[in-house]
Amino acid sequence: MTEHHHAPPIITKRHHEPKRACDDMYQFTYSTQASRVVFGAGSLNLIQEEVDTLGAKRALVLCTPEQRAQAEVVSSLLGPSSAGVFAEARMHVPIEVARRAREHAKSVQADCAVAIGGGSTIGLGKAIALESALPIIAIPTTYAGSEMTPIYGITEGNLKRTGRDPRVLPRTVLYDPELLVGLPAKLAFVSGINAIAHAAEGLYAQDGNPVMSLMAEEGIRALANGLRGLKRNPRDMTARSESLYGAWLCGMVLGNVGMALHHKLCHTLGGTFDLPHAETHTIVLPHALAYNSVASPDAMERIARALGASAAADGIYELAQELGVPSALRDLGLKEEDLDRACEIAMSNPYWNPRAIEAAPLRALLQRAWEGSRPAP
Ligand code: NAD
Repeated sequence: MTEHHHAPPIITKRHHEPKRACDDMYQFTYSTQASRVVFGAGSLNLIQEEVDTLGAKRALVLCTPEQRAQAEVVSSLLGPSSAGVFAEARMHVPIEVARRAREHAKSVQADCAVAIGGGSTIGLGKAIALESALPIIAIPTTYAGSEMTPIYGITEGNLKRTGRDPRVLPRTVLYDPELLVGLPAKLAFVSGINAIAHAAEGLYAQDGNPVMSLMAEEGIRALANGLRGLKRNPRDMTARSESLYGAWLCGMVLGNVGMALHHKLCHTLGGTFDLPHAETHTIVLPHALAYNSVASPDAMERIARALGASAAADGIYELAQELGVPSALRDLGLKEEDLDRACEIAMSNPYWNPRAIEAAPLRALLQRAWEGSRPAP
């Protein structure tokens, strides 16, 4: 058993339900996953120490072709401990790329992978670790949150296979807000709302617990505040640091509790219609929250409070408008005639959600998300 397996439960009872007037007693299971987080501007400079701490001698640096320059900086900071740069990470982790990366890691005798980038690059690190248990040091440069989760995804043909495995959870995460300076504002905003989605769904998760709820609420607050700060002044390092801190918390929530309607819908839309990940999350979130609003009043209250808004779904919708990010699926190229199929696929795979998934209201949700109209329950 590695240190990445779930630690023994600290407090054990069965499912957590939101507290209700008739049932005020806590009931939940809380387990945690071990990873080391180093946070702060300039923390990239600690990479050599972190590789040493893992006892590794040959670190293979992973990145996308676009982020090769950042990866070369990491490689040179590592000096003789670098096993070079593998710059082939791509969206959705295609199996061919994963295989090439695994073979390359073997051929250079890597004993650790350093993934610098967003969810796609960290996902490639996870694909290597899934087979080899190679320890990963993640250096996230977006707010997506993959670095804090044991969730992997690999695409073969047109099918993205996802799963959970403790071996893929990065051992160490270096959060350095200076690395996000080059992230274009639009990408930063949609990535931040993507992270908020993890925390929002974590607040009504079937297996939620009070500790994750604290992190979720604080994560949403920090991200909303940080993203607004970046909108006012794209060079504001304090706002960038606050956003990244929020992303860490939201990533923790994603890694520790189950997601529901919103994440399933985005997975369907992204997978079937090839829509961009973070933008899709940004557009769908207010509508998914509106759908669940009556069934999860406590979660909605906490989301609204974290946003400084009077209601959760409206609050997210307004935040997106304030940040000037896309608000309609039609603007991502989805066709109106695809909505029936999207609804059918989303209905075909049953999963837990605080409100039952029903075809007519789900189809109405998709219509509103497609048009970009205000969310409605
Ligand atoms: P991404 O990793 O696909 O990156 C998008 C583009 O932005 C890439 O070209 C990348 O090189 C570039 N980029 C990233 N950071 C940059 C920076 N600071 N400056 C300049 N360019 C930068 O985008 P993402 O939204 O981070 O990740 C999306 C993917 O991650 C999806 O496939 C999603 O399914 C996955 N994901 C997985 C988990 C998980 O827990 N497994 C969690 C969240 C997301």
